Amino acid sequence: MDFKEYITVVEDFPKEGIKFKDITTLMENGEAFRKAIDELGNFAKQKGADLIVGPEARGFIVGCPLSYALEIGFVPVRKAGKLPREVVGVDYGLEYGKDRLTMHKDSIQPGQKVLITDDLLATGGTIEATIEMVEQLGGTVVGIAFLIELTYLEGRDKLEGYDVFTLMQY
Ligand code: IMP
Repeated sequence: MDFKEYITVVEDFPKEGIKFKDITTLMENGEAFRKAIDELGNFAKQKGADLIVGPEARGFIVGCPLSYALEIGFVPVRKAGKLPREVVGVDYGLEYGKDRLTMHKDSIQPGQKVLITDDLLATGGTIEATIEMVEQLGGTVVGIAFLIELTYLEGRDKLEGYDVFTLMQY
């Protein structure tokens, strides 16, 4: 299946010069969405993952069906102030300024084999921060899976030493 057929590239969103990759048109097609998730699921199975971790918000869209299909747990990564119990947190750089990502402190058991997932790998900052938290909690990152990789932003360089699977590349 040519998955790219289902991605809409939106010019100048959210600001001029950006070619935004819109996955909602993939999600709207039941067969294409399921097959895309299955591809990521095959990778996760091959890596022996026993937990899925995904950052808000589109990491939930990819991570939750994976968790359901593989019958393993899902742990959300959220912006500071959103999770109700004790958290670990990491600051990460944005284009302008900083933000903070958090995870519940008891969400990972030491030694758990974690697959991190998100819709898209851009600069890699979001996932780098996520890896830091997972490892702080004693998890082992066995793989990282994305629907889309923007190769020209070289996010993979930040993820050196990890097994990264991407379904589509631009
Ligand atoms: P990074 O931290 O620079 O790798 O940015 C990745 C995050 O930005 C992901 O969580 C994406 O959801 C979001 N993102 C960046 N560019 C796009 C895009 O073109 N389409 C959809 N999401 C994007």
